[in-house]
Amino acid sequence: MNTRVPHDLAEAAHQQGFLPPLLTPDFSGQRLPCQRAVDLADAMRLAWAGRDRGPKFLAGGTELVELLQQRVERPAALIDISRLPLAGIDALPGGGLRLGALTTLADTARHAAVSRRYALLAQAILADGDASLREAATLGGRLNQRTRCGFFRDASAPCGKREPGSVCSALEAGITGGEHAVLGASEHCIAVHPTELGVALAVLDATVQLMGPNGPREIAFSDYHRLPGDYPAHDNTLAFGELVTAIDLPAEAPVMQSSFLKVHGCEDEESATISVAVVLAMDVETGCLDSARVAIGGVAHRPWRVHSAEALLAGAQPGLALFESVADAILDGADQRGGGAFKTGLARRAVMQALDEASCRDALNRP
Ligand SMILES: Cc1cc2nc3c(=O)[nH]c(=O)nc-3n(C[C@H](O)[C@H](O)[C@H](O)COP(=O)(O)OP(=O)(O)OC[C@H]3O[C@@H](n4cnc5c(N)ncnc54)[C@H](O)[C@@H]3O)c2cc1C
Ligand code: SF4
Repeated sequence: MNTRVPHDLAEAAHQQGFLPPLLTPDFSGQRLPCQRAVDLADAMRLAWAGRDRGPKFLAGGTELVELLQQRVERPAALIDISRLPLAGIDALPGGGLRLGALTTLADTARHAAVSRRYALLAQAILADGDASLREAATLGGRLNQRTRCGFFRDASAPCGKREPGSVCSALEAGITGGEHAVLGASEHCIAVHPTELGVALAVLDATVQLMGPNGPREIAFSDYHRLPGDYPAHDNTLAFGELVTAIDLPAEAPVMQSSFLKVHGCEDEESATISVAVVLAMDVETGCLDSARVAIGGVAHRPWRVHSAEALLAGAQPGLALFESVADAILDGADQRGGGAFKTGLARRAVMQALDEASCRDALNRP
């Protein structure tokens, strides 16, 4: 049994040009080739050259190496992108920020402009994992983290996300609620998107910068992750060979107020985790809400936003009755079977609390 932690193994891959033999029962003795890309064009060339074998990009390696060890991911080769010049945070014309995809989570959370102007992004990053992990893990890697569905991460269990065409073990087991989706699920997959970072980026209206074999493009963050539909194997809308180069945050109005909340709840043997991010602007004269954005994590295959529910907040006086109707509108259609009712109730209370906190908070985005 290999006892080395994933980031040690990733470091070996970065330095030696292959991932050392992973001594799991199915994978014994194999070296996985790992080619280092010297620049973006080289990364594209390597991805295209390996298209028949399905190479994977290796950034910090904290997630990918673990999935390789568990035989959940089985690429024929790795492309080491860790030395590409994609780390750093820069000001954008107009007042926004560009976060390079290889910026570590720790560097992002402690960056002065992030903690001052996008406090909820720093809160969302710090809500997850331990400090040493955040020093190695990158934004691009976190954005592309796979689901934490236990069947997906158990290579012996049938799973249509891991093996296209296989049945879904979670659905076969009749699971409802818990760590699984209550919204946007399909008859093929009920997994949820796993990251708090995604919830914060959804509510901040971020844009994702991509580079692919056909050149650069950008997409709204809301279009980055997809629902499982009849092909759960794809978590997102990346085309073959595309990688994330940066995440752009638009400038926020100075009176924006925000809150980020992560809650856990248990019913029977199933535990559920919900995160909620809220950004709102208030009219300081009238005390009414000008606009608001709300995203929920842990309920669907992507961070969940409902624009018609957010519209209920525009021009309204903040209050619990209003927050209750907004929460109901966001969670409209949630699966109420079995543990789904408990999970929906947890999400409903979390949305109301996050809205209450954000609207009571001083302006200027102070945490
Ligand atoms: C012990 C341990 C604890 C963990 N705890 C948590 C936790 O509490 N919360 C949490 O959310 N995660 C956790 N993780 C998972 C992991 O640390 C994060 O998902 C991390 O952010 C991944 O970043 P990375 O740079 O290490 O990505 P990698 O492992 O290098 O890559 C992850 C995936 O992203 C893809 N990828 C990486 N960069 C790019 C890019 N620029 N463009 C396109 N695709 C890309 C890779 O191909 C791979 O599929 C944990 C992992 C470990 C080992
Ligand atoms: S819910 Fe999705 S990830 Fe989990 S077993 Fe089913 S198909 Fe796989």
